[in-house]
Amino acid sequence: MSGAGSLPVAPRDDLALVEGYHSPQVDVEVRLNTNEAPLPPPAGFVDALADEVRSIAFNRYPDRAARELCAALAELHGVRAEQIFAANGSNEVIQCLLLAFGGPGRAAAVFEPTYLLHTHIAKITGTEVLTGRRSEDLSLDLAEFERINSAHRPAVTFICSPNNPTGRSESREVIEAVAARAAGLVVVDEAYGQFAHWSALPLVSDEGRVVVVRTFSKTWSMAANRLGYVVAPAGVVSVLEDVALPYHLDAIKQAAGRVALRFRAEMEARIAGVVEERGRIAARLSELDVQTWPSDANFILLRPLHRGAKEVWSGLVERSVLVRDCSEWPGLEGCLRVTVGTPEENGRFLTALTEVLD
Ligand SMILES: *Cc1c(COP(=O)(O)O)cnc(C)c1O
Repeated sequence: MSGAGSLPVAPRDDLALVEGYHSPQVDVEVRLNTNEAPLPPPAGFVDALADEVRSIAFNRYPDRAARELCAALAELHGVRAEQIFAANGSNEVIQCLLLAFGGPGRAAAVFEPTYLLHTHIAKITGTEVLTGRRSEDLSLDLAEFERINSAHRPAVTFICSPNNPTGRSESREVIEAVAARAAGLVVVDEAYGQFAHWSALPLVSDEGRVVVVRTFSKTWSMAANRLGYVVAPAGVVSVLEDVALPYHLDAIKQAAGRVALRFRAEMEARIAGVVEERGRIAARLSELDVQTWPSDANFILLRPLHRGAKEVWSGLVERSVLVRDCSEWPGLEGCLRVTVGTPEENGRFLTALTEVLD
């Protein structure tokens, strides 16, 4: 039996406001719907990780503070290890940020269309969500930020840059302007940061209010590993450690993160490959009957001009190509989002799209 009627106790009333988060998984040959990296990590990564796994003391709890991993990440970004907090995917980082700085009686600001999980996790943590709108060109509207910030003083302001699903990144000037005026923490979600032309990482300082969230899921080809982190003022990191569950990062995951960082050159070559393919897809899309937006990420947002999004989405599925249907997301009527895949996958997508639009 299932359904609310059979529960021994009703769930929290405010969970009624939370909708599930789903990305339909359809059985197709070309999956370009979840912004994953098109290639697995280098073979050497798996071998090196297997060696590390053999030396784990499995009867012991892992290093609770993940010190070696945080030290390696600190070295990568030129910050101090006390400025890094790692968790099970950047979604858990965001959950910890909201557990620590959001919660009942507090609010988080989001600017739609943007990453739906910011709103979703805020609601689950009992944080009120203040929803602003982006400008016509889908960039952040500073006047809208100012309106929400001064009226409601949010404890957390989310800025996804490059923004999912629009692909745009905010300029340094915009993020600095937000940081100068924000009532609380400014969380810059850089899940796609390595594909972009700049990063907000240099804006993080112990005295400041900017934190930058990153993940191994996209650029590091490690979505299966569930590993993300934040670069933040040391004081913020120490609060995040307080709200995380003890030993939340298992030993295999810590090893995977450390080992991956030894393959930086290979990862950067993959990123360059994705950026090149992104340019090729964008060039072809500009010849088709679709509207597109410039992308600084590993995906492109597009809107068929004379066809319904659902019809195009189904036509692509019939040709065994899966993209993300964003047409019901706020502000994205008629839009689809395609992840940059391998050259072959991108070719299949472009051929299928050309046929469907014909
Ligand atoms: C994919 C994505 C994440 C990644 O979440 P993980 O939990 O690290 O896999 C975070 N933020 C944005 C905007 C994303 O698109």
